[in-house]
Amino acid sequence: MDISVVIPLYNEAESLPELAAWIERVMSANGFSYEIIFVNDGSTDESWEVIKHLRDTDPAHIRGVSFRRNYGKSPALNTGFGLAQGDVVITMDADLQDSPDEIPELYRMISKDGYDLVSGYKKKRYDPLSKTIPTKLFNATARKVSGIHNLHDFNCGLKAYRKAVVKHIEVYGDMHRYIPYLAKLAGFHRIGEKVVQHRARKYGKTKFGLDRFVNGYLDLATLWFTGKFGKKPMHLFGLLGSLMFFLGFISVAVVGGMKLWHMHSGDPYILVTDSPYFYLALVLMLLGSQLFLAGFVGELVVRNSPKRNDYEIEETI
Ligand code: UDP
Ligand code: MG
Repeated sequence: MDISVVIPLYNEAESLPELAAWIERVMSANGFSYEIIFVNDGSTDESWEVIKHLRDTDPAHIRGVSFRRNYGKSPALNTGFGLAQGDVVITMDADLQDSPDEIPELYRMISKDGYDLVSGYKKKRYDPLSKTIPTKLFNATARKVSGIHNLHDFNCGLKAYRKAVVKHIEVYGDMHRYIPYLAKLAGFHRIGEKVVQHRARKYGKTKFGLDRFVNGYLDLATLWFTGKFGKKPMHLFGLLGSLMFFLGFISVAVVGGMKLWHMHSGDPYILVTDSPYFYLALVLMLLGSQLFLAGFVGELVVRNSPKRNDYEIEETI
């Protein structure tokens, strides 16, 4: 099979028939063999009934899974990825903001140009300003942290993947915003971008509020940390802890030295607590040992993780 289209959706009943018909049009015009996988993320409207109806009219191409409750876009994508059988997997939002007309070119970029992942770039967006401005900042940070400098739009719902990519990454929590980074961390380096058409939402309303930006930054910090130190937390905490402890030790030496110096030169009696270095020493040594402990606890957690020796082997000869 050439293409699997994975569509996560939450309360998008009105859009689905139009979307399915459009995808089918594009696929048959290009002669692709394909499947459309709808992942119903616990919708409370009649989305699932609509999907069942679509499936009845075209059982050869349409599949569907339905969560019992709403888990989020990442779990929905992850479930779709698990089921996908096509050589190229394309994800798109269900709200008709992404255009199925992009599918042939995305497919070509993966199958012919050799990309592992191609992300859409909504260069001209039809979204409110309250979303587009924070989005720019967000993407600049994501580029910096992930080291994927050629992407402008990490969170574009329209993306294409080589099958191996979706089978080897795990999208959980809200990590769908960083799939290119997840792919890179899993060793897939050929990441490209294609400028895509974007349209205003036709039916329904957006499912994400402004908290997406706060959570987005926190998730980025998490990914950066787990990507770099997830398997060796001591390398971060041990370094910071030792550094603090060392500075604390110097402060102790300063406090002690000053005290001795004053005693030696017969100056009036001073208390160690008179010196600001006393407090510095206290805080630094406490923080240092706490950080060190965090590192040790982290190492114990890693040691007990069943994934500690889970590597992606690309080839063995
Ligand atoms: N979505 C989902 N589960 C959720 C929230 C959203 O499957 O909990 C789907 C939603 O139905 C849509 C896609 O994710 O197909 C993108 O959501 P939305 O259009 O609301 O995001 P925006 O375009 O505003 O970034
Ligand atoms: Mg949308």
